[in-house]
Amino acid sequence: MSGLAAAPVLSVSGLRKRYGDTPAVDGVSFAVGRREIVGLLGPNGAGKTTTINMILGVLEPSAGSIRVAGLDVATRRSKALERTSFAAVYAPLPGNLSLERNLRIFGLLYGVPDVRARVDDAIRRLDLDALRGRKCGVLSSGEQTRASLAKALVSDPDLLLLDEPTASLDPATARDIRVKIREFAAERGCGVLWTSHNMFEVQEICDRVLFLSHGRILLEGDPRALPAQHGKASLEELFIAVAREPLSLEQGAAP
Ligand code: ATP
Repeated sequence: MSGLAAAPVLSVSGLRKRYGDTPAVDGVSFAVGRREIVGLLGPNGAGKTTTINMILGVLEPSAGSIRVAGLDVATRRSKALERTSFAAVYAPLPGNLSLERNLRIFGLLYGVPDVRARVDDAIRRLDLDALRGRKCGVLSSGEQTRASLAKALVSDPDLLLLDEPTASLDPATARDIRVKIREFAAERGCGVLWTSHNMFEVQEICDRVLFLSHGRILLEGDPRALPAQHGKASLEELFIAVAREPLSLEQGAAP
């Protein structure tokens, strides 16, 4: 891990991505600290996945900079990516390999020291011991989600990017996963960027949220305090107001 304990694990500055004339991400700046869980919220098409893909080095920004644990993703991409992990339902593990083999291969690809211990730790954290020898292709969607999260923990990342990590989980498992990710972040000093459309979940897990609309951050703050600050009864009401009338917020009025 970086020696800069107080420095953010993720710093995004003036980030932009255009597709032709369409600005998908339009000048976004934010940071994620160690042990901090930050929610990236916004309606469909707001620019969340595009932002995550730029942090992962999959998409090249049109402008702006991204640093992971102090490493510039543009100039030190592979080093920055070694410190980053990602999990999403649309990125499942190869189905023809067992869970354990998948995690081992992933650990080896990342050059993880003591791969066996890290794989065991990830399997234990996600309660996957009974499924260790099972091929990933036959896991249920909820089990695959947990497997994908286990993969993300193997490399002991500084930054964890989770795109709707509980979308396919039943409420009890989803709660369990939230607790486990919180524990992991606290114990290992990792920062988490978490996208979700579930406002209850966001209030439970996120220390801070960023509301994205049309590629811009319109609101930022504590998800438990933000609704009252904007005259709304709940985070869901605030979300709907931001999604429907982003301009009123940009102009400083309560939605
Ligand atoms: P969702 O909640 O639906 O997943 P999102 O916030 O992740 O949405 P993005 O997938 O980042 O949104 O998309 C942001 C905008 O960029 C959308 O208007 C989308 O149509 C557009 N977009 C994304 N990828 C491309 C592409 N390859 N070419 C053109 N436009 C794109």
